[in-house]
Amino acid sequence: MRTKLLGLALILVVIVGSLGLRSNDASATTKLPYQAKVITAALNIRSEPSLQASVVGQLKAGDVVSVTEEDDDGWVLIKKNKVSGYAAGYLLRKQDDSGQTAGSSSTSTGGKVSTSPGSTATVTADSLRIRSGPGTSYKTIGSLTQGEQVTVTGSQSDWLKIRTSGNVAGWVAKEYVDKGASQQHSSGGTGIRGKLVVVDAGHGGSDPGMIGTTYDTKEKELTLSTAQYLKQELTRLGAKVVMTRTTDVKPELSERVQVSESNHADAFVSIHYNSSVKKTSGTLTFFYSDKKDRPLASAVEAELSKSGIGLRSNGLSFGDLYVLRENATVATLVELGFLSNQKDESIVRGSAYQRKAAAAIARGVADYFD
Ligand SMILES: [Zn+2]
Repeated sequence: MRTKLLGLALILVVIVGSLGLRSNDASATTKLPYQAKVITAALNIRSEPSLQASVVGQLKAGDVVSVTEEDDDGWVLIKKNKVSGYAAGYLLRKQDDSGQTAGSSSTSTGGKVSTSPGSTATVTADSLRIRSGPGTSYKTIGSLTQGEQVTVTGSQSDWLKIRTSGNVAGWVAKEYVDKGASQQHSSGGTGIRGKLVVVDAGHGGSDPGMIGTTYDTKEKELTLSTAQYLKQELTRLGAKVVMTRTTDVKPELSERVQVSESNHADAFVSIHYNSSVKKTSGTLTFFYSDKKDRPLASAVEAELSKSGIGLRSNGLSFGDLYVLRENATVATLVELGFLSNQKDESIVRGSAYQRKAAAAIARGVADYFD
């Protein structure tokens, strides 16, 4: 089996090598440093090239930085004015090289990944975007984290068509995955007792969030009261709880993530209420990473969808949301009803609904740890 795979890999080295010639040539001309633009709303600058490293600064969309180093995992060392640190290369775009994200020029050595359909590949980057097509211009439809395994179903130049363990199909940049399987780390399964859960009440202070269209309900007030009920429920089940805010203040998104990471939390739950121009009603549960976050989101959604809390669940959804995307902790974000819908607003204003929703979320978190 092993020699068969090696033989196959060798043939693929030749094929991939010849296909990859053009990009190899292009990358040979990449000189450091170069200028790159931030293409995400808020980019964390970290002390080390790791999602576990502390955040030393933050940049916003459109900021131009100087990239002075690139590593094989897609991290780039950047500099802007006095701030210097590491950032995820896929969140930056090279200034002179349209379509190319930073750090993506350090090409694989060719044949590093077996592209034979059905083979297994392991993610080597800390965070890897799954796209709807073979290129950075395609929409992000999911995310993988280091060590996750995917099934290869095809390939096209520098891109691999893959399927995740959660059955998400899409494309990833070939250079951020390695062929073969890696050792799986277990997800505990020891129960909620003693686990540290960060409860994040969305918005606050100068940021009211959504405003109800019928009763002028402020999202920031609903999130705080619901978060407090959630804390009670989780504490009752034996968890330790840290809140990102307990009063009407507005922590930055990076600070909310920081609370989670600096406490080495076991889970992070962000509470929000929604708004829509349509007559949409009900709850929505978001995850970012298919492997890291989805099991928690799925457990929470399963409890929210059981009858009795008063609003129907609209299911699980991938969300490219800062507090999930930039968070090393297993994280989920719930939208507990639409303030733009009169029925929803009148229900979610009541403490009975908030208590029931909080209890359902707490049960979901407990199920996740079981
Ligand atoms: Zn919100």
